[in-house]
Formats: sequence, C-alpha cells, structure tokens
Amino acid sequence: MRCVLVSKSLDLRFYLGPQFMRAADRIEIVSHPHEGPAMDVRLAVAWHPPDDAFERYPNLQAVCSIGAGVDNILACPSLRPDVDVIRVVDPAQAQMMSGFVAWHVIGHQRRFATYQAQQREERWQRLGQRRAQDVPVSILGFGEIGRRVAADLALLGFPVMAWSRTAKPALQGVRSFHGAAGLDAMLGQTEVLVNLLPLTPETRGILNRKTFARMYRGGYLIQVGRGEHLVEVDLLAALEDGQLAGAALDVFATEPLAPRHPFWRHPRIVVTPHDACEVSVEAIGATFRATAEAIRAGRRPPHSINRQRGY
Ligand code: NDP
Repeated sequence: MRCVLVSKSLDLRFYLGPQFMRAADRIEIVSHPHEGPAMDVRLAVAWHPPDDAFERYPNLQAVCSIGAGVDNILACPSLRPDVDVIRVVDPAQAQMMSGFVAWHVIGHQRRFATYQAQQREERWQRLGQRRAQDVPVSILGFGEIGRRVAADLALLGFPVMAWSRTAKPALQGVRSFHGAAGLDAMLGQTEVLVNLLPLTPETRGILNRKTFARMYRGGYLIQVGRGEHLVEVDLLAALEDGQLAGAALDVFATEPLAPRHPFWRHPRIVVTPHDACEVSVEAIGATFRATAEAIRAGRRPPHSINRQRGY
C-alpha cells in the first residue's frame, strides 16, 4: 500500500519524523506531489491540503488528519465524498487542553491580568477573592476534549455546564445541555464561556454579539476551537461596552495573526499562537496504523468522522 503526505503549510515528513516512517509497516510513504504511480495510493495523511491535492489519487480510501479537527481537510474541493476522513483521539492532548483552559479560567477568577498590571506599576493592592463555586463555566462542545475539560474544571470546584448537539448522559459535577433551547438556557447562567466545538456550517460564527449578550455581564471568553467560530468585531464591541471583561484567544480566522491586528495589543485579550495543545506523533502513528489495518481488512477505519455532520 502507498500513503501520500499532503500539506501546504507543513513539511509532514519532517513533522512526523523518522520514527513514524519506520513504524509504517509495509506502507510506502511518499510526499505530494509525487511523480510515481498514483493508482496504489489508498491512504493519505493531510493537514491543510492544497485544493487539487486529491485529484491524482483515484483509489484513495482514507485521509488521516494529524489533529482532532478535520475542517481543513473537508474544505478541500478535490476530496471525493466517499473517502473516509479520520481524526486523532489522544487523551494526552485532552489533558493538555484541560490545563490550558483551567489556567485561563483561574486567571479570570483570580484576576491575574490585573495583578500583572499592578506589578508593572509596583502597586501592592489586594483585589478580594472569589470562590470557584461562584464562577459558572460553560463549555461549547462535549466531545473527546470537552468532556475532559469539563470533568477537570468540576474537580476544581467550578459549576460546570456543557453543550452538545445531541443529549448526553450527565457527568459528575457537569450539567449537560443540547440543541438551540439548551444553548439559550446555558448561556443565561454563564460567566466563562469555553469554545471547544468543531468548525462546521452550523457552528461557524457562533461566538457573536447575541451569544455574548446572553452571558453574565463582565464574562470571559476562552476561544480554543477554530478562528472562524468568532465574529471578531462582535468580540471587540463586547469588550468595549463591558459585556465581556476579557478573552483568551488561541485560534484565529487567519493564522498567523496579521501584524497590527487589534487583538495583538488589546489590554484585555490574551493571544497564544494556536498552541493550546497538540497531538503526539505517537497518537498520529497509532491512528495511521489502525487506519491502514482497517483498509486492508475491508473495514471502516476507527475514528472516521461523519462527512454529513462535518466532525
Ligand atoms: P469531538 O468531535 O469529539 O466533539 C465535538 C463536540 O461538539 C460534540 O459534543 C458535539 O456534539 C459538539 N457539536 C458539534 N456540532 C454541534 C452543534 N451544531 N451544536 C452543538 N454541539 C455541537 O471534538 P473534540 O472534543 O475532539 O475537539 C473539538 C474541537 O476542538 C476540534 O474540532 C478543534 O476545532 C478544536 N481543537 C483545538 C485545538 C487547539 O490547539 N486550539 C486542539 C484540539 C482541538 P455531539 O456530542 O452531540 O455530537
């Protein structure tokens, strides 16, 4: 079997490293665009593939993402509708995300930004403390990563709510909501909003003026989903009028964030360069091997996403 590595933003051969190449048992790995016979290519590993990337491979059966998200692969116009798209599920990644989100939730609760500003002015002033139980946190997305984040925040003592498309069984310390009515009900009780949704036609632009207006005044946004979830001007307006006290942004519609973008120097925005958490190369390798095995056995690969739903 032959596998093609396809990316316009990353050198995947370098990114995945020699260990990944060695572990690819009986699979010849080539980089796109490759000159050799394309008929044997049944598998691809991709990240931001160029528009015409999959045109050359008529027998392609599956495309593995190197991350949890697959939106960049589904957006590729040359991806045939019958090709399976596979995401990575990596509990270690969910743990890293959980730490990242907890850092920002606690930063808001304990007013770290104000203390940092006071330190720059050599000002010694206590700000008063709020208990975790008085800071309700809601998570958009109750999937592989959202569940871990929700469970850990609940252990830290925050009242936690989580929203999904379909009804979910309760998790200890986490109230679960679903659908449009569930979102309304949840936002009305929310101070900190964490976005952990996949990017789909339904979720694009979900972080907008109306969403912010339903939250508690002085709320906080932690945006770790995808940049296109956020209506940027609506965030700036919500910060300006005090509806939101601050925001932590890890993902952006255009990455890297453009020079002189207003987010860079905004006093109440924390910017990180899409670095909340990443999957390990080991997890990508395990996904890749399970996919190849399933193709050989004529089975649908595990962790294939639902092409209709978009995640
Ligand atoms: P999953 O696919 O496991 O979970 C997605 C969750 O979102 C599910 O609970 C799903 O509901 C819910 N959902 C999807 N569409 C809707 C909708 N229209 N309305 C309500 N709920 C919806 O994804 P993961 O938890 O693994 O990852 C989530 C996202 O996090 C990724 O797609 C990616 O965008 C982002 N991410 C960002 C990273 C970063 O470094 N910043 C790193 C990793 C991921 P249901 O359960 O009912 O299907």
